[in-house]
Amino acid sequence: MNQHPTCHRPAFLHRSDRRKVLECDGKHSATPLSYEVCHQRANLSANMQPRSKAVSKPPHSKTQAQHIRWHSSRVVGSAFALITLLFLCPGCQSTLQKPLPVTETWRGVHVPVRDDQQLVALEQELPQFAADGVNVLVIEVNYNFDFKSHPELRAAQYITRAKAREFTATARRLGIRVIPELDCLGHQSWAENTGPLLTKYPELDETPGKFMDNQWIYCRSWCPQNPEVYKIIFPMIDEIADAFQADMFHVGMDEVFIIADKSCPRCHDQDPAKLFAECVNKLHEHIVSERKMQMLMWGDRLLDAHTMGNHMYEESMNGTWPAVDMIPKDIIICDWHYDYHTNYPSVPYFLKKGFRVWPSGFRPLEATKAFSDQSLKERARNKNLIGYLCTTWSVAETNNDLAAWPPITQILPEWKGK
Ligand SMILES: [Zn+2]
Repeated sequence: MNQHPTCHRPAFLHRSDRRKVLECDGKHSATPLSYEVCHQRANLSANMQPRSKAVSKPPHSKTQAQHIRWHSSRVVGSAFALITLLFLCPGCQSTLQKPLPVTETWRGVHVPVRDDQQLVALEQELPQFAADGVNVLVIEVNYNFDFKSHPELRAAQYITRAKAREFTATARRLGIRVIPELDCLGHQSWAENTGPLLTKYPELDETPGKFMDNQWIYCRSWCPQNPEVYKIIFPMIDEIADAFQADMFHVGMDEVFIIADKSCPRCHDQDPAKLFAECVNKLHEHIVSERKMQMLMWGDRLLDAHTMGNHMYEESMNGTWPAVDMIPKDIIICDWHYDYHTNYPSVPYFLKKGFRVWPSGFRPLEATKAFSDQSLKERARNKNLIGYLCTTWSVAETNNDLAAWPPITQILPEWKGK
């Protein structure tokens, strides 16, 4: 168990390790509280002083730079219209990646990438990744892409289509499949910075006008029942998929805490599980039924924390978990667990439900090893456990030799030939 660095209260690494979060499961708020808010409340409670705007930043806040720049926009030339039409033409989307042999395990690495420069750096590491046995890369793109369909939603740092194509070609030559990711539903803000979608279109927010400066919340969500959301998001998914020539797409869907909010005219008083499943099913309809791609998502909202026994980030305490029986079974569930456990019951749980499962760890190496070892045993019994995914999060931002990172070099080779 991690501890808060100053008051030593229990703290959890949330799935991206971008900051530590105190254990505040409803004692203070209906939604989880950020590190800063928890810290402030602890201080407020101790000192009975008003909340200050001057807040020290958590230790894993480097990625906030991308969010600070999310508010930028740019003028788009009329020539983009033709390019956009080409991008949106179903026949123009490439789905060229060769399928992995059915017997091959998926030895994956998940990397957030914000711009071409980072993609070039990652490309230079691909030969070593391949030597490590890596055969899948999940590239979390989010709004860091040169969108032609919605240029107003392009982050300040961005990946171009040309560079994405080049990267994918290099990866493919080395036998590595590329799966892009766009965080859907949740993770629409980070700390005080709201992401491009809800900045440009605040009417799509599940809590419009609430939580000034994102105080008292973890991340914003879009309204899962607003049809305008999907009119915007689907072309963006198509563009990212086309750029990476993807036949698979990761939709995020993790750590959604704001859902069925009382302030939403569409969603208030509705079942959060049904709303969550509705969003998954809309994404599936587009990605799988229409675009013929494989869909992946994180699994935390589909697990009941009360029966699984873990915290609110790793598993659901906000009523979304019954959605597990309301969504298609052809979705690959990226079942992430970063803390050390002696048992990981979610793995057989998802398998028994009929999903293919991709266990996803992070660090420390001891926890990664424990999760991988149990997963290897499950793999021997059930090939629907497809492999192992090493997430890298903050490590990817500070480590220029990611391919040499121990969870990759020591865990993934164990999956060869399994
Ligand atoms: Zn809503």
